[in-house]
Amino acid sequence: MKNNNVKNLVIKKNDVAVVEISDLTHDGMGVGKIDGYPLFIENALPGEVVQIQVVKTTKKFGFGKVLEIREASQNRVEDVQNHLIRTGIAPLHHMTYEAQLTFKENQVENCLKRIGKLTDVQVLPTIGMDHPFAYRNKAQIPVRKIDNQLEFGFFRKNSHHLVPVSDFFIQEQEIDDALVVLKSILKKYQVKAYDEENDTGNLKNIMIRQGHYSKEMMIVFITKKKKVFKIDDICQQIIKELPKVKSIMQNIQPDQLNNIFGDDTFCLYGQDYITDTLLGNTYKISAKSFYQINTIQTEKLYSKAFELADLKPSDVVIDAYCGIGTIGLSIAKKVKQVYGVEVVKDAITDAKLNAELNHIKNAEFIIGKAEHVFEKWNEDGIHADVLFVDPPRKGLDPSFIDASVAMKPEKIVYVSCNPSTLARDLAIYEENGYHAKIVQPIDMFPQTAHIESVVLLNR
Ligand code: SAH
Repeated sequence: MKNNNVKNLVIKKNDVAVVEISDLTHDGMGVGKIDGYPLFIENALPGEVVQIQVVKTTKKFGFGKVLEIREASQNRVEDVQNHLIRTGIAPLHHMTYEAQLTFKENQVENCLKRIGKLTDVQVLPTIGMDHPFAYRNKAQIPVRKIDNQLEFGFFRKNSHHLVPVSDFFIQEQEIDDALVVLKSILKKYQVKAYDEENDTGNLKNIMIRQGHYSKEMMIVFITKKKKVFKIDDICQQIIKELPKVKSIMQNIQPDQLNNIFGDDTFCLYGQDYITDTLLGNTYKISAKSFYQINTIQTEKLYSKAFELADLKPSDVVIDAYCGIGTIGLSIAKKVKQVYGVEVVKDAITDAKLNAELNHIKNAEFIIGKAEHVFEKWNEDGIHADVLFVDPPRKGLDPSFIDASVAMKPEKIVYVSCNPSTLARDLAIYEENGYHAKIVQPIDMFPQTAHIESVVLLNR
């Protein structure tokens, strides 16, 4: 709000003010201004008037926390659970689901205009979920010692301060239930939780992955050292109390890095994979392979991508950034040939097994960076009619775009988890004669600010 009494206003930590929220950042924080100085505020929605306390300042902007909501938005839900916002588990959960979906298509539209300077691309309404909670088929949970007790939880945003959590809100219920059982077993066997400050203790993280349809479960212990006292007894107890567990793995991360996984992975019990189904195919999924975390929405996303691709039996298709091969293998039986490329070795091993498992003979999977393998394919004279790309958040490498343009596929279907890099890449493709008309956002990550989209580019 304008404060006309103050000329050279200096905003300091702990100041209290009343501000009107004018906007939302890309990660869902409210933006309020004091005499033009922007403050980013969690749990505050556009149109709301809130009393805030300044918690941090920099030269150009600051951060505030809500003390009181004076005027609430119609888009606010009741029963906001602060820890879900503070930890970043569900940073949008204070918004109605309808408002979240609108927020997402607006974000895509802004990126296309601002970053891509693309003004004639239409953004469709976001495809949402009927039940936008308890959808994650995977949990990655830090384990720490708090008051001498082993605790599971989530780090407070931008910190390594563990907030104990037992209801993770967006994880499949069976995973939350398993975590409760697991915690009591680990406590009973006095497993030493990691202590980050002193770099002592052992158990750093737990990953649980569940087949959405199969309900098979994999537990991965990520430890500092290999030796875990009484690990065999612990595993026996786990499978006794959690009979759906088909795989218990251990990964060793000796370093104090932000990377969750280290290099060495061992099987402690059962198989080193779980299986699940997706659009009618069966997949083996191992601990380190990427697998889409929202199965219901993945089926909608892929179906949309295939509808846009409008595949013909004579088509040669490339699945770039293929993970365990799910995009290519879903359509292999409808086309002439599929080639997949992916940089993670275990994922390619899975992709090859998955082709066999589903009796698919016309799919070939290659390890390597997509940008390098594409150049080689061009040299070898391999031509694709349809190219699917599904890169990580940083988007496509410029050399990949060059190589893909040189191959001259008729259609490119771009699956994106980051509208900023999508907009950047679409603009480059546009300069190279590939035109996008429509972007379809799909909500793969309800209650969070992550945005997935699928786009068809025609040559
Ligand atoms: N299409 C798959 C995976 C998408 S996630 C699915 O829907 O499940 C993106 C994948 O790209 C990850 O598996 C990641 O390991 C892989 N990747 C990242 N950088 C890469 C690169 N430069 N070349 C090839 N693959 C890469």
